[in-house]
Amino acid sequence: MNHEIKGVAFDVDGTLYPNLFMYLYSIPFFLTHPVFVYHFRMVRKTIRTIRPLENVRNSQADLLSRSMGISREQAYNKIDTCIYNRWERCFRYMILYPWVKKLISLIRLKGLKTGILSDYPVDRKLSYFGLSREWDVAMSSEESGYLKPHPEPFLLLAERMNLPPEKILYIGNSYAHDIIGASGVGMRTAHLSWKRERKGADITFLWYKEIERYLSEKL
Ligand SMILES: [Mg+2]
Repeated sequence: MNHEIKGVAFDVDGTLYPNLFMYLYSIPFFLTHPVFVYHFRMVRKTIRTIRPLENVRNSQADLLSRSMGISREQAYNKIDTCIYNRWERCFRYMILYPWVKKLISLIRLKGLKTGILSDYPVDRKLSYFGLSREWDVAMSSEESGYLKPHPEPFLLLAERMNLPPEKILYIGNSYAHDIIGASGVGMRTAHLSWKRERKGADITFLWYKEIERYLSEKL
């Protein structure tokens, strides 16, 4: 079996930057929209359990409208304004993990393909991070009709990267969403976690330097 890695793809939140920073940077947003944030979190949790699903945005608007007792249109617009605009702007000055930018340029220098797969829209965040041009593919799971850990987002990522899943290393911080989802379609996985004893990912790491070392052994 050929174990060569031909592409590396990343989750965004909690993977390119520490999760703690997301919560810190989001505090003003959470404080000004507490009820909405509570309902939206429950909706995103529920939506991961539903199959078949036709469209993530429409279904989450349906669920939110029922949960908050507002019209479907109001719910859709609320999510659009709050999540896809206001909340995203909290990420303007986000500080990335050390070495992550260096690792990305190294991956590109080695001629590997690069990808981004997040459950949220990625374009604006990546431009805030100064990482707009680094990717062969940058996409949100929503484009596949499902969120992680469903196989659709990972399969669509592989298809767009034009690589079989086995040739892709997927890097993520969530065991339940990233590692289960990516390994489920046959990708190699790197789990960013303090809990090194946790089995299931091909590599569990805390510093991006470790990925650099892992990759140099696999190429
Ligand atoms: Mg994440």
